[in-house]
Amino acid sequence: MKQCISSLRLDALADLVSRMGQPAFRAKQIFHWLHQKQVTEFSQMTDQPKAFLARLEEDWTIAAPTVRRRQQSKDGTVKYLLELADGNCIETVAMQYSYGLSVCVSTQVGCRMGCRFCASTQAGRVRNLEAGEIASEIYTVQKDLNQRVSHIVLMGIGEPLDNYEAVLDFLRIISSPEGVNIGMRNISLSTCGLVPMIDRLAQEKLQITLSISLHAPNNPMRSKMMPVNDAYPVEELLAACRRYQKTTGRRISFEYSMVRGVNDSPETARELARLIRGMGAHVNLIPINPVDGSPYTATDAQNVRRFQTLLTELGVNATVRRRLGSDISAACGQLRREEAARQAAGTSPQKP
Ligand code: SAH
Repeated sequence: MKQCISSLRLDALADLVSRMGQPAFRAKQIFHWLHQKQVTEFSQMTDQPKAFLARLEEDWTIAAPTVRRRQQSKDGTVKYLLELADGNCIETVAMQYSYGLSVCVSTQVGCRMGCRFCASTQAGRVRNLEAGEIASEIYTVQKDLNQRVSHIVLMGIGEPLDNYEAVLDFLRIISSPEGVNIGMRNISLSTCGLVPMIDRLAQEKLQITLSISLHAPNNPMRSKMMPVNDAYPVEELLAACRRYQKTTGRRISFEYSMVRGVNDSPETARELARLIRGMGAHVNLIPINPVDGSPYTATDAQNVRRFQTLLTELGVNATVRRRLGSDISAACGQLRREEAARQAAGTSPQKP
């Protein structure tokens, strides 16, 4: 498979252009075509010499996924099943907020983290996405909705810190003033808690929001839900979070998906408060989205509120995440899974 040229940061593109004996200004021009104009064919770069474009095309492609399925919710949320050049599918979700259009991107085809409640990981990881493929999720949404994307969350399929280099390149490309220029402060990266990678990310000193999928305040409970906890237990994860805050000066937020009878008792709320009190961190509570084949069911709204109230009383800032697209959204990863099942059964996909 050819590599995607939109995966190259401006400096890497400049190296390529100079290796090919072209004047340096071409790098910026090509970057503009790719990330501002968001062209999907080399022939659309009309200010470039034809021979140069032909040579580029021999070695490079431009990621341009096709919309395989598209579901639109009453609240405006749109969920896309996107097909990549090699036939693999990923999911991307566009959400309308008062402050703008936020897009939830996938970073891998599948995932190998094995969280018990998550649909994206059930068939494992197929491959990493390239930086340009992740960027193309944003561009596809912008084109489809004819609206500027203002915010990004790396919370789709995949574990961003398990695809570190590509994700970092993506962040640099997408926030570049030479491209779509989405500010780092408008980007959140969510991780299940790969401690060495959190430390590495801290050193980059980015202005992004780091979100930790905590989901439980102690090791027995968290290990049952998330196998990654056996490698990086709660106390190591929290220590890494504190280091991250210290190094970057940025507050962390914690994701807490609530599972009935598993992690939603008042005692658990107290334990959570003891664990993270004083960090100034924010907790996002969200009732679990039930996944086929998983024994977990969601905490009811009343108990979610009770949990939130308790945390707040104990000095921990917690909000209940508004559920957008609940009429369409199967939990993240379900659309891709349905598609795989449909292909296995030999039935044709629904047209978008
Ligand atoms: N791998 C990263 C990002 C992708 S998952 C991570 O683990 O953070 C994005 C968020 O959705 C995570 O907090 C994840 O734990 C949560 N999640 C996954 N499946 C879910 C489900 N069925 N219901 C509720 N939250 C879920």
